[in-house]
Amino acid sequence: EVVINRIAAGEVVQRPCNAIKELVENSIDAGSDSITVSVDDGGLKMLQITDTGHGIRKEDLGIVCERFTTSKLKTFSDLRSISTHGFRGEALASISHVSFVTIQTKTAFDKCAWVGHYRDGKLHPKKPGASAEPKPCAGNTGTTITAEDLFYNMGTRKRAMNGRDEFNKVAHVITCYAIHNTGTAFSLKKSGDNMPKIRTTSKATKIDTISNLYGPSLGKELIEFSCDDKNFGFKSSGYLTNANYSGKSFRFILFINNRLVESSAAKKAFEAVYASVLPKNSYPFVYLSIHIDPQNIDVNVHPTKNEVHFLHEDEIIAGIQAKAQQTLYQCST
Ligand code: ADP
Ligand code: MG
Repeated sequence: EVVINRIAAGEVVQRPCNAIKELVENSIDAGSDSITVSVDDGGLKMLQITDTGHGIRKEDLGIVCERFTTSKLKTFSDLRSISTHGFRGEALASISHVSFVTIQTKTAFDKCAWVGHYRDGKLHPKKPGASAEPKPCAGNTGTTITAEDLFYNMGTRKRAMNGRDEFNKVAHVITCYAIHNTGTAFSLKKSGDNMPKIRTTSKATKIDTISNLYGPSLGKELIEFSCDDKNFGFKSSGYLTNANYSGKSFRFILFINNRLVESSAAKKAFEAVYASVLPKNSYPFVYLSIHIDPQNIDVNVHPTKNEVHFLHEDEIIAGIQAKAQQTLYQCST
């Protein structure tokens, strides 16, 4: 059983950045206003996330890493929206099958924090012979999750990755979530470093946060964008660079229903918009957040296949493309 779970887990968590994305989403779901991430060797040796969310009750510590443990599945419509939020209750389970997980957590109602160590979905003693039960410790309200020695049991996978590339992918995930979730402060550092590589504050506006992360020369060329349509039942908003900005590569950040996803159709639509606006080999920055009825998202798409599809995709993307084009022309005349 452990082997089958490990194969499934290895599909959900293919690299450190997949684990980070799931953990960040959990921290946001827990209502955190601050999320601190630290990684060693791009997350391969160690990744750790500390949040200021509502914490996990001590009674739940025994089961949080078991498959399908979730506090979020409440209604049938939630069930249908799994593809936007990952498979329900799979993230912590998967991470605990491919690394050594430690969870320290405290709710506002607890007098102290509790810490548990996990392996393959279950509480596991830190030292052989010791008790696996969570132990009391000092700590603030919120949760710290540490995953050590990622893919310790998947040698080939581990050897195929290097810390530098993995760090860049982790940094990209944090950058995107920090832009999407202004109101939450994010930081990312390499363990051992004093200075974080990324640091945003909870009071900064979206434009300030984008400027912080991509530089002021990009930040000062941003235009606000929004496009809603009742017929197709979607709302979208975001920020685009204007015709004065020309980047070396196309930066396209897309969230659908608050989850970072990829849509080559949406990306192509914006490429087309800018092809008529920017000189050759100059590229824009686009951050777009779309909200659609979760029922209209293709539930057959596996969560790690980030490419997303949804009902009325062509019409919705065409609508957004037309509006983006109009917005750009308006501000350049
Ligand atoms: P899901 O997010 O789909 O519910 P996960 O495996 O990601 O599944 O998490 C399992 C459960 O553990 C969550 O439903 C939540 O109750 C709890 N949990 C995980 N991370 C946190 C966190 N940072 N703060 C509070 N609760 C958490
Ligand atoms: Mg989750």
